[in-house]
Amino acid sequence: MKLNKQKSPQAEKEFGGTLGATCIPVFLPLTVLYLLCVCRSPAASVLQWPPVLPPTAQLWDPLALVLILGWMALQSFFYLLPMGKVSEGMVLTDGSRLKYPINGVIDLELCRPLVHNDLSCCFHALCVTAVLLTLSLWLGMPLGYLFELLLPLAVCAIGVSFLLSLYLYICSFWAPHHALAQGGNTGNPLYDFFMGRELNPRIGSFDLKYFCELRPGLIGWVVINLGMLMKEVELRDSASLAMILVNSFQLLYVADALWNEEAVLTTMDIVHDGFGFMLVFGDLAWVPFTYSLQAAFLVVHPQSLSPLGATAIITLNGAGYYIFRKSNSQKNQFRRNPTHPSVANLETIATATGKRLLVSGWWGLVRHPNYLGDLLMALAWSLPCGFNHLLPYFYVVYFTVLLIHREARDERHCRAKYGLAWDSYCRRVPYRIFPYIY
Ligand code: NDP
Repeated sequence: MKLNKQKSPQAEKEFGGTLGATCIPVFLPLTVLYLLCVCRSPAASVLQWPPVLPPTAQLWDPLALVLILGWMALQSFFYLLPMGKVSEGMVLTDGSRLKYPINGVIDLELCRPLVHNDLSCCFHALCVTAVLLTLSLWLGMPLGYLFELLLPLAVCAIGVSFLLSLYLYICSFWAPHHALAQGGNTGNPLYDFFMGRELNPRIGSFDLKYFCELRPGLIGWVVINLGMLMKEVELRDSASLAMILVNSFQLLYVADALWNEEAVLTTMDIVHDGFGFMLVFGDLAWVPFTYSLQAAFLVVHPQSLSPLGATAIITLNGAGYYIFRKSNSQKNQFRRNPTHPSVANLETIATATGKRLLVSGWWGLVRHPNYLGDLLMALAWSLPCGFNHLLPYFYVVYFTVLLIHREARDERHCRAKYGLAWDSYCRRVPYRIFPYIY
C-alpha cells in the first residue's frame, strides 16, 4: 500500500513551531516528575534551589508498569463492552461522520428515569471502576500505597505516552489523506509527531483519541485522589475536610465529563487537533498526575478549614460548575439541534458556512463562558490547600495560561472559518473569558 506523505499546504505552525515541538516533550514530562517530588517534600517549595530530585531508585517500580498496563487494558475492556448507544461525530472533510460508542450513556428505553439532555446517563466505566474499587478496598487492597507509587506510575505513563505517540505517527502514513489533521502534517517529523498527523486514528472501530480523552486519564485521576485520601486515613485515622472537598470537587468534574460524554465530540480536541504527543501525553500523564497534585500535597501538608471557609469554597465551586455546565450544554445543544426549544429563541448571527453563531445566552456574556466556569472551579480546588504554598495553585496558574492560549487558537480557527461574521460576533461580545476584564 502506498504511504501517505502528503503535506497540508496551509498548515500554520503552533506551540512555537519545531522548537516548541522539540522542547515541550522534554520539558513537560520533567515538570510532572518535578512537581510530584516537590509536593511530597516537607517544604513543598517550587522556588527551592537546587530543586528536589529523587534518587533514581524511586523512579522505577515494576509494579507501576503492571498497574498502568492493567489499567489501560481494563478501561479498554469497558470501552468495548456493547452497551449504551452509538453517536455520530461532526462531519469530516470527506463528508463522512464517524460513529462513537457512547458507553457513558444508556439508551432512554433502558434507563428511563435518568433523563438528561434527551438521553439518560449511566457512567459505565466510572461506575464499574467504583464498584471494583469498593470491592478491592473491602478485601483489604492498600489503595493508599498509590502515594508511594506516584513517581514510578508517572514515569510509566510518560513512557506509554511516548510509545503510543510513536505508533500513531508511524501508522498515520497508511491513513488516507482526508483522515489527516490539517495542523499536523507539515512534513516536519518532530512537529508532526507532537501535533499528531491523523485526526481520528482507530484500530478497527476502537477510536484511540476518543478513548484516551475521557477514560484512562480522567478516571485514573480520581482513583489517584482516592488513593491520597486513603493514605491520609492511614496516617491520621480520618480524612480531612480539605481532602474530602478536593476529592468531591474533582470527582464531580470527572463524573460530569463522563455523564456528558457526547459533548466531547464537538470539542476542539476531537474536531480539529490530530492525535499526537500533545494530546496523548496530556490525556495519559499530565492530567492524572498534575491534576491530582492538591490531594497528594494534602497528604504531607494537612490543612484545617473553618466552616465559613469551606462554605465559601463550596459556593465558588458550585458557581463555576453552573456556568461551565450550562454554557457547554447550550452550545452543544445548539450545534446538534438549533431548533431545540432550549436554544431556538436565542439570538444568532449567520455565517457564510451555513452555521450560525450564538450572540445571546451564555455565549453573549463572553466568547468563552465555559472557560470562565472552568477557571472558577480550578481556584476552588486549590483554596482548600491554604495560602502558605504556591504548589497547590500550580493548576490554576497553568490552566489560566492554557485556556488563554486555547482561546487564542480557537479565535484564529473561527476567524478563518467565519471571517466577517466572526468579527461582528467579537464586536457584539467584546470580552473573551472574563467579563469587563479580558
Ligand atoms: P469549546 O467547547 O469552547 O468550543 C469552541 C468552538 O465552539 C468553536 O471552535 C466554535 O466551533 C464553537 N463556538 C464558538 N463560539 C460560538 C458561538 N458563539 N456560538 C456557537 N458556537 C460557537 O472548546 P474547547 O474544546 O476548548 O472546550 C470544551 C470544554 O473543555 C471547556 O469547558 C473547557 O473549559 C474544557 N477544557 C478542559 C481542559 C482541562 O484540562 N480540564 C482542557 C481543555 C478544555 P464551531 O463553530 O465549529 O462549532
